[in-house]
Amino acid sequence: MKALLLSQYNQLDITDLPAPVPGADEILVRVAACGICGSDVHGYDGTSGRRIPPIVMGHEAAGVVAAAGSDVSNFKPGDRVTFDSTVYCGKCEFCHKGEINLCNNRQVVGVSCGDYRRPGAFAEYVAVPQRIVYHLPDALEFQEAAMLEAVSVALHGVRVSEMKGGETVLVIGAGMIGLLTLQAARAAGASRVLVADIDQSRLKRAEGVGADETLLLSGAELVKEILRRTGGKGVDLVLEAVGREETISASIASVRKGGTVTLIGNISPEVKIPLQVVVSRQIRLQGTAASAGEYPEAIEMMTSGRIRVKPLISAVAPLDEGPRWFERLYTHEPNLMKVILDPRKPGKNA
Ligand SMILES: [Zn+2]
Ligand SMILES: [Zn+2]
Repeated sequence: MKALLLSQYNQLDITDLPAPVPGADEILVRVAACGICGSDVHGYDGTSGRRIPPIVMGHEAAGVVAAAGSDVSNFKPGDRVTFDSTVYCGKCEFCHKGEINLCNNRQVVGVSCGDYRRPGAFAEYVAVPQRIVYHLPDALEFQEAAMLEAVSVALHGVRVSEMKGGETVLVIGAGMIGLLTLQAARAAGASRVLVADIDQSRLKRAEGVGADETLLLSGAELVKEILRRTGGKGVDLVLEAVGREETISASIASVRKGGTVTLIGNISPEVKIPLQVVVSRQIRLQGTAASAGEYPEAIEMMTSGRIRVKPLISAVAPLDEGPRWFERLYTHEPNLMKVILDPRKPGKNA
């Protein structure tokens, strides 16, 4: 089969590899769409240490069942499917509680990190355990389904924030996750959603997917404006989708007493926080990681149109063009959001 292989850091090659053979409880998926994730781009040059070559990356995928192992009963060849990026063990104490994102033996499709190596979906075929596979409604296109991981991450971030409805919510960072998180907060009943970023074109997009108010501000200026717009009180919930010291400080200063700051972004490994403000104003700092069972809800939200992903897809390209798209994402070409590769599309090398 044709595959996009990270042969060494910063080098992707279109190669021919043997197609995987599905195990007894595995499903062989013929890939129809696979999104390039930020984590793939960070793995590409070796900085994250989670894509040790040689590895076929790619975990945001959808396609058609090509074959099923002998223990598989819920899927048959021809079914349209997608799958979770997380392969959980189903046996540890966290899995038993449904917290599969915290699984002690968690693996991710398309990752090699020293402990394990799991071939991903930048290829014509990928094999995955049936427990992570979901049926795809006909109304959902493969390229939309490739956005399900990101939508699930957004839904999980909102879920752990424990919204009750009627909140004023501030989303900091209008990148992919911020734009989905704002839609998830809206769907969870937020009465007012404000979005802050330092890039005007991102804020335009935020308006396009339902932000009530946008703020082209950061730091102290942002805090001042948020307090002005909330009568000095602050917002009920901040969904922080950047993860730098400045944006986390601004989040803490923008939330009301007893409010919640949910930390989604984590660009900086360490930041300083104003401890006395957090303690004396009884602010809840809540981390959120990946997703835990939100795929069915994400599929429903996208099918019903309550979460829209099409405005966030920048390009759908043949697999052969993968090396070029990785390079463009790696060099931070402006205005590029999600790029999806389709191995069925004929490329120049086909
Ligand atoms: Zn991803
Ligand atoms: Zn587990």
